[in-house]
Amino acid sequence: MIPYGRQFVSQEDIDAVVKILRSDFITQGPAVPAFEKALRDYAGASHSVAVSSATAALHIACMALGLKSGGLLWTSPVTFVASANCALYCGAEVDFVDVNPRSGNLCIDRLKEKLVEAKQSDRLPDILIPVHLGGQSCDMETIAALSKEFGFRVIEDASHAVGGSYKSQKVGSCQFSDITVFSFHPVKIITTGEGGMALTNDDQLAERMRLLRSHGITRDTSQMVSRSHGDWYYQQIDLGFNFRMTDIQAALGLSQFQHLDEFVDDRQKLAESYDKQLESLPLKPLDRLQECQSAWHLYVVLLEDPKLRKRVFEGLRENGVGVNIHYIPVHLQPYYKDLGFNPGDFPNAEDYYQRAISLPMYPKLASRDLDYVCGLLGDILN
Ligand SMILES: *Cc1c(COP(=O)(O)O)cnc(C)c1O
Repeated sequence: MIPYGRQFVSQEDIDAVVKILRSDFITQGPAVPAFEKALRDYAGASHSVAVSSATAALHIACMALGLKSGGLLWTSPVTFVASANCALYCGAEVDFVDVNPRSGNLCIDRLKEKLVEAKQSDRLPDILIPVHLGGQSCDMETIAALSKEFGFRVIEDASHAVGGSYKSQKVGSCQFSDITVFSFHPVKIITTGEGGMALTNDDQLAERMRLLRSHGITRDTSQMVSRSHGDWYYQQIDLGFNFRMTDIQAALGLSQFQHLDEFVDDRQKLAESYDKQLESLPLKPLDRLQECQSAWHLYVVLLEDPKLRKRVFEGLRENGVGVNIHYIPVHLQPYYKDLGFNPGDFPNAEDYYQRAISLPMYPKLASRDLDYVCGLLGDILN
């Protein structure tokens, strides 16, 4: 089976992990801060907090921004459930902003309209989470301008987008957001097995996320509410979690990071090859913004005729091609239906879902395999 996505782990990566296993610290040693530094230097942000998953990063990002019961978070319905669940973890409410049906990223016009409506009914969101679908950044400059105008905070869910750029800055620079989150799940661009990171340029947000990552415990005397008893002393000053990344994971991440640009280049070349070979078929790749360079986590095509989607999906799967669908709109999940969402609430997202199919995309995907996928698609659609 040719999967839709998979990790590439080299002998160097394995050696880096083994070295940690033989060292004094397999967690909370030097590898985590080294990995954090590598990524924040690369992205151009001042702070980076490595955690156990992007889900954990989204959760503590929301908490650091003060999201709580009575609060409201907006995100895209075309995303993995974690982008919305983080609000529920904080006891807040979720709502969605419909997407542009050609790019799958949240629709800026719809966002503006919804903000105006929300202002009138005095129910503006506290936080917006734009999701960089497939690795292509949303229109962050406009989102940042709207966040100032309407007074909400912004977390970029860049789980797909590490290594991508927007307006010639790397995704993760946080130039147009409060916090950016990356995922290091094996199907994403670089991996730590499980893992995630939150980046920010705000000293206080960083400090708060570090605290929440580890039980709400501090050993920094300047953060303590009363005098230290001595060098052994720590204080729990908030209710946090164990969301720490291990040194084993960080060593893998740091070794993978050496190949980040190469992985993204490989993905870009595969995307170009798909573009060319699929040109004459009744489908279209996602629309792209001029000012973005995608990290190409996914290569999604939208079928002109949604009625063919099932046949295409099954035809590819039966012939050993592990295609997938990204995503079933979050508001259609049973859990979200129970919260009051209904089919028809976000028609662009639902239309997108009917047509979308993600083709295999990962570094070292052989060009003969890519040709085979394109040939099969041609056979099924013609
Ligand atoms: C993968 C993913 C997440 C969650 O990442 P984990 O590291 O698995 O927790 C969140 N949002 C999006 C858009 C994702 O694709």
